[in-house]
Amino acid sequence: MTPPDNLKTLILEAQRLLLICHVTPDGDAIGSLLGLGWSLRKAGKQVTLACPDTTPTELQFLPGADEIGPARPEALAQAEVIVILDSSDRERIANQYAEAPFLAKPVIVIDHHVTNVLFGDVNWVEPTAAATAQMCAELIRQLGLPLDEEVALCLLTGIVTDTRCFRTSNTTAEVLAAATRLIEAGASLADVTERVFRDNSLARICLWARALGGVQMKDRVIWTEVSREMLKACGAGTRDTTGLANFLDATRDTDVSIVLVEKNGKVEASMRAQRGVDISGVAFGLGGGGHPQAAGFTRQGTLAEIREQVLSATWAALREQGRA
Ligand code: AMP
Ligand code: MN
Ligand code: MN
Repeated sequence: MTPPDNLKTLILEAQRLLLICHVTPDGDAIGSLLGLGWSLRKAGKQVTLACPDTTPTELQFLPGADEIGPARPEALAQAEVIVILDSSDRERIANQYAEAPFLAKPVIVIDHHVTNVLFGDVNWVEPTAAATAQMCAELIRQLGLPLDEEVALCLLTGIVTDTRCFRTSNTTAEVLAAATRLIEAGASLADVTERVFRDNSLARICLWARALGGVQMKDRVIWTEVSREMLKACGAGTRDTTGLANFLDATRDTDVSIVLVEKNGKVEASMRAQRGVDISGVAFGLGGGGHPQAAGFTRQGTLAEIREQVLSATWAALREQGRA
């Protein structure tokens, strides 16, 4: 895994950088943002950390999480370089960045999604990487940038969350070696797993009970839906659906799991696939993206409309891939 030379030069030479991660950020988005951000700061650079959405509660323990917010126009104007993390297209960082000053700066994209549309001026995309945080750790190592306990904790969180604690099929020896280096630098794996995977509220349990009550399964696909009414009845938020698709993915005799969540007149879909099945194309075709085994999209429509679209596209993909 080697970052392109022009990416290294841009990062080393810039004094003021703006780092951005994707909307509804996950552990890899926030972990990469903070990990690379802290390392660059400790190398003496001025770094602004931006994300269009708030940090989920289970990631708020990370150092610097409280300063992440939408990019201010001054930060945008002052930055010499913009680094976009864990995002496969421009929509993933929201429209506010489609502004003139943004386009005038060199934009670096660091990402591991196979569906990345290469929208930066310099694109470093490694679909075999298990997490963008793994790529950031490698970049820091190759550039000789500071790696202390804070940096390591953020990056380890990114790797742990995107690999579901080293359980996904892309968890290679290289991933474990990267995680080992972060633990050697002072990050505690026990702290990360406890913080990240022990954050359920009663409202979340209530929501999962309802969502699991509505599960359906047909032709090797298992799915469920979360409506606005369900969220309201439980006092839960759309973030409380995180992990539900992974839970369904563990169902015997299924190839694909899908969770549909109603959100602001749109539907947010989370998809998971068994090893040997690839649903990144289905998600990409419906306006999103992702990895072979984990993908998603957000699309205008009702739950019933999106369910029809995603199920027919999924069964078509399964037939094409010789699974049905
Ligand atoms: P999630 O189900 O939200 O955990 O997302 C699974 C994977 O799909 C992650 O790698 C996401 O980056 C990707 N993904 C989810 N939603 C979208 C979207 N709207 N556009 C592109 N990629 C997405
Ligand atoms: Mn992500
Ligand atoms: Mn990721």
